Amino acid sequence: MTEKTPCIICVAITGSLPTKADNPAVPISIAEQVESTHAAYEAGASIAHCHVRDDEGKPTSDVVRFSRLMEGIQTHCPGMIVQLSTGGRSGAGKARGGMLTLRPPMASLSVGSNNFPTRVYENPPDLVDWLASEMKTYGVKPEIEAFDLSHIYKAKQMVDAGEIGARPYVQFVMGVKNAMPADKRVFDFYVETVKHLFGEDTPWCAAGIGRHQLELNDWAAAAGGHLRTGLEDNIRLDKSTLAPSNAALVELAVNAAQRYGRPIATPTQARKILGLRSG
Ligand SMILES: [Zn+2]
Repeated sequence: MTEKTPCIICVAITGSLPTKADNPAVPISIAEQVESTHAAYEAGASIAHCHVRDDEGKPTSDVVRFSRLMEGIQTHCPGMIVQLSTGGRSGAGKARGGMLTLRPPMASLSVGSNNFPTRVYENPPDLVDWLASEMKTYGVKPEIEAFDLSHIYKAKQMVDAGEIGARPYVQFVMGVKNAMPADKRVFDFYVETVKHLFGEDTPWCAAGIGRHQLELNDWAAAAGGHLRTGLEDNIRLDKSTLAPSNAALVELAVNAAQRYGRPIATPTQARKILGLRSG
């Protein structure tokens, strides 16, 4: 009997939107972020998806803050993969990619535009190309954020053009208001499309927003994908209970993986699956 693929759990600790007023467990300062990530790491997370906030708690792309956070995580969570966000809420244009010079092992890369709950999530082709070329220059593996089917095809175009590596790590994001809903038929088609375009054994992951987080954990664990959780995407354990920590959400993701017989990937295994440099 073959062992099932270890399941990588990514914890999105902070994001751009949630505040302490929404849930006091959302880590905002660098010290809180490192502490929250450490507990999530102990609970089984091997990737930390990171945003930083300024002194007022607003999203920023400040390179010094990113550098301090990355250093804190690398010190307190040995081997954990730091993934910095180049997402659009924290800065406009090229400011979104300033932190890539820090050479994190991974960074998020949105490759197309779509609507968000109250605005357009703008990712024009020239900016996408520039972010991808910076990632290439600094040896950063992109995680392709697919908010829409067209974004998966855009990743294929980028692979063919040599802008990104041949086995891109695509993350399906479902359940954002005004973007793609959490629809199982679409999810199944996403999985099929990734396998068709990039090969049967190409790793992929999925994120569900808000109340869809657990649902997407479940679907991805069952289908052989990797999981994302964390307070960035969802601040609740259930309708009436706030999540007490990022670690508590990681525990739910671990349970989902275990329900399908998936061992939890260690950081070393995660690096191997993703084709990352070690350490
Ligand atoms: Zn993010």
